[in-house]
Amino acid sequence: MTTNDTSSNKPKGRQLLKMRVAKIADYTPNIRELFIECEEPATFEFRAGQFVMLHVPTEAGKPALRAYSIASTEHQKNGFRLVFKFVETGVASNFVWGLKGGEVLDFTGPFGRVFFKEPPTEQAIFLNTGSGISQHFSFIESNIAKYPDLRYRLLFGVRTEADIYYVEELERLKSQLKDFEYHFVLSRPSESWKGKRGYIQNHVDDYDHTKTPTTFYLCGNGAMIKDVKTKLAGEGFDPKMIFAEAFD
Ligand SMILES: Cc1cc2nc3c(=O)[nH]c(=O)nc-3n(C[C@H](O)[C@H](O)[C@H](O)COP(=O)(O)OP(=O)(O)OC[C@H]3O[C@@H](n4cnc5c(N)ncnc54)[C@H](O)[C@@H]3O)c2cc1C
Repeated sequence: MTTNDTSSNKPKGRQLLKMRVAKIADYTPNIRELFIECEEPATFEFRAGQFVMLHVPTEAGKPALRAYSIASTEHQKNGFRLVFKFVETGVASNFVWGLKGGEVLDFTGPFGRVFFKEPPTEQAIFLNTGSGISQHFSFIESNIAKYPDLRYRLLFGVRTEADIYYVEELERLKSQLKDFEYHFVLSRPSESWKGKRGYIQNHVDDYDHTKTPTTFYLCGNGAMIKDVKTKLAGEGFDPKMIFAEAFD
């Protein structure tokens, strides 16, 4: 995890939060979003980029704790959204896929110190895979009013056309921002796919980051993050301008 905050903002979050599953959206067989609303306490504050710990009930009694990056705007104070990617045999995954809506879940948080760079650079490039869109969506949605004119570029790595999700949300950002562009990068597309192909780490140069002041945000698969960092280091790109959160 890369830290980019040097202030004395201490992580809070020891208090147990009781939060209700207000809505469930299944985007693909492997991607589920939970819309969470505060029960006790009635409000919840976090900064974009942070995550919460879900306390997954277990038969042993002691909950299993798993981290989930908040996918929604930091301006919402009565709840948040979480995007889950199903992991076969995963404790939290099977619990979350068993939810029907209306359940009250235990969380702690917020945690994490990967934040949006302030002041921002002219361009922000977001590279994410799997459910890594969560942190990036929160960064961008939280900054619509504050930084509407930045050049936002987002590459979203998934396997096939069937794994594409969040198009409606990304289109909403596009309609609200002056210069937002996003593309899906498919590692196993069908022959008819006209968009970007391959691994996301091979698309780092799709946007100029040598002449345009740029911040990179990386989220999701750890191998992707490592590859992108290695490539950028080889170019002499300033590592302080790379903000990364690995989910595995
Ligand atoms: C800071 C942070 C933020 C995160 N945010 C999110 C998020 O927003 N959305 C999200 O879906 N996940 C996120 N994760 C990952 C999440 O915390 C869990 O690790 C993941 O959901 C798997 O938990 P599980 O209990 O289902 O699987 P486990 O029971 O922990 O694992 C079961 C098996 O799957 C393997 N495994 C674990 N995680 C992964 C993975 N990601 N990919 C492939 N195999 C895996 C394990 O090695 C194990 O063999 C985040 C992780 C971190 C550290």
